Amino acid sequence: RANEKPVKRSLAKSNAHFRKALTRLPLGVASNFRYWGEDKTIYVKRGKGGRIWDLDDNGYVDYRLGYGPAILGYADPRVDEAARQGMEVGGVFALGTEREYEAACRISRMVPAAELVRFSNSGTEAVMAALRLARGYTGRSGYVILEGGYHGLFDAALWTSDVDNWDPGSKTYPALIPYSQGVPEIGRQLIHQAPMNDADYLEDLFKRRSGEIAAMLMEPIQGNCCAITADPDYVRAVRRLCDQYGVVLIIDEVKSGFRVARGGIQSLMGVKADLCTFAKAMANGYQIAALAGREDIMRRFGRGVAHGGTYTAHSVALAAANKTLEILEETPALETIAGYGLRMQKGMSRILEARGIVHSFSGHPSMGGLFFAEKPPRNYRDWKTSDYSFYDAMAQHLHDQGVLCEPDSREPWFVCEAHDEGCLETTLAGFERAVDLTID
Ligand code: PLP
Repeated sequence: RANEKPVKRSLAKSNAHFRKALTRLPLGVASNFRYWGEDKTIYVKRGKGGRIWDLDDNGYVDYRLGYGPAILGYADPRVDEAARQGMEVGGVFALGTEREYEAACRISRMVPAAELVRFSNSGTEAVMAALRLARGYTGRSGYVILEGGYHGLFDAALWTSDVDNWDPGSKTYPALIPYSQGVPEIGRQLIHQAPMNDADYLEDLFKRRSGEIAAMLMEPIQGNCCAITADPDYVRAVRRLCDQYGVVLIIDEVKSGFRVARGGIQSLMGVKADLCTFAKAMANGYQIAALAGREDIMRRFGRGVAHGGTYTAHSVALAAANKTLEILEETPALETIAGYGLRMQKGMSRILEARGIVHSFSGHPSMGGLFFAEKPPRNYRDWKTSDYSFYDAMAQHLHDQGVLCEPDSREPWFVCEAHDEGCLETTLAGFERAVDLTID
């Protein structure tokens, strides 16, 4: 048990840059989520493999991986070389290329539900297109999301549960509220929120309202809510109910796709979505996403449902996707990643058990959540109403030990192929010390 004083890493250069950046960028950053507080916001100099370095040259073993994309590790030479070759092709042409067919074939081979494929630039765009397609196909406008799910930064997805103003003892469900100012109130008329792992609730909703519901949008592993995981039985019940009531099942695999298995979470849970969305891991960080699904639904593109975009299937991103997917399909990269994740979790368990700290893991070893409770939460309300102060304090100490996870428990721990024995050693030594400092 280490009794030394906590080390506080200097963020002097990041802090100075923050003050400068604030004069030109709201919150001093390019995305709200990259702001961690005035003296805690980190600016990155570079990343390589499973590590990143900040402006102050602090190195970190990184388990955020840009919110998941760097599945092979930062600056992977195989993918970057492919991207360079993609650059030679010339960018975008407002015309098709042979490479997009190649990528579509690869995705169809890996994911049985992906009978046809289209590309987008981001997860948000892919999910937006999936929702529009489901609406075009069914002629209905409503849709269901699960509490705690995140599907991107577009108005129809920016709704959440008002758990802060909800009484956990009551028999009611938390109210649905916009996640952001600027989300039009009128959108409320179209959205229904359901609790995860409660098939009876969904059945009752479909019985009453399915005539107006086009789509059910779900992440079986909630990648933005500590990897809370749906029971496979629940996912299969959702599949059955969607079939019964003619609702298009959209499985959002933006985070789980090409990460938890070659065929994504659908293959692990034995379900086939009608439509599914991919992004993050498919190009090791290059900007591309995919929307894929049932042929009869996908063929509505071109028969009345709009889809496109100037930068769609950009030659650089597509070349990166083809190479990344080739590696993920044809090498044991995913087994290496899951194996590392499992060893890390076992190592963490040994440390926690030695101190009598009750804990559990959720999700998948390649994107796992850590809880200081006997069992992981079953839904968003369980998570929101549990005490995560130990996690938050520990995360701060971990950063000072050179191990970077999200400052709160919302993001899972993402593992990449480049996380090696050295990373594991740093992580477990840092974890042990961070836990001790948190107990003290
Ligand atoms: N869907 C899920 C499940 C996500 O996790 C995210 C992003 O984290 C998105 C959609 C949106 O993707 P993007 O940030 O690429 O727009």
